[in-house]
Amino acid sequence: MGSLGRVYAVANQKGGVGKTTTAVNLGAYLANAGKRVLLVDADPQSNATSSLGIDKSALSRSIYDVLVGGEPASNLITLTGCVGLDLLPSSPALAGAQVEMVEMAGREVLLRQALEPLRQRYDFVFIDTPPSLGLLTVNALAAADGVIIPVQCEYLPLEGLTQLLHTIELVRQTLNPDLMIRGLVLTMYDSRTNLARQVVADVRQHFADLALEVIIPRNVRVSEAPSYGQPITTYAPKSSGGRAYAALCDEFLMGE
Ligand code: ADP
Ligand code: MG
Repeated sequence: MGSLGRVYAVANQKGGVGKTTTAVNLGAYLANAGKRVLLVDADPQSNATSSLGIDKSALSRSIYDVLVGGEPASNLITLTGCVGLDLLPSSPALAGAQVEMVEMAGREVLLRQALEPLRQRYDFVFIDTPPSLGLLTVNALAAADGVIIPVQCEYLPLEGLTQLLHTIELVRQTLNPDLMIRGLVLTMYDSRTNLARQVVADVRQHFADLALEVIIPRNVRVSEAPSYGQPITTYAPKSSGGRAYAALCDEFLMGE
């Protein structure tokens, strides 16, 4: 496969909406489907890194050294327990990067430059972002071809989404004119609650075809998997959450 890989930022400035879970599990199912996938953990909380069983406190170097130290990203990429899914890990040092990057030339495009040489090695690169619209998220948006926006079905999202879409528009105008919204992913759906049904209806009404068809249910197996350092592909593929992420992967691939 000679074509260049596509880069997607998984973003939403609200915490706990399923960004990391979606980046890890969609990435893992794509790897299962034979795609070469890189997961870039751009969140100082390093949840994607630890979800894949990598001990962030044992890492001497991370994406921090790429963004602030100019280290080639390829030097820091590590394999994971999931064949085909590689990781550019984060570490708590990344929290300081936001401050240090402010002083740097081209501070919004450090990640884009770091990932450019990797596009030929991967089919897909997913960037997991922190719960803010700060410099790390802007770097992810500047580096990406598209944005995947997880939306938690337990919380009315429209106000937060409006702010996120505004940021995406600003990034388009200044740094990345071709940035597209690849899709909204509805997560943590509980069919027993009226709120969940209302969120789905609201999102479908306001964002029409931007919302992907597959809805990820709330499922305890999905929330357990990270403690075992595994994606849902191996931890509980037959669970409702596992089947939903497999279906999301199919839907995603159909649109590629
Ligand atoms: P974010 O990265 O947006 O902060 P996470 O992906 O870390 O959100 O999800 C927040 C919490 O919810 C985590 O504890 C995660 O394991 C849990 N979670 C995510 N998706 C589901 C789901 N479909 N069912 C149950 N728990 C989930
Ligand atoms: Mg996260």
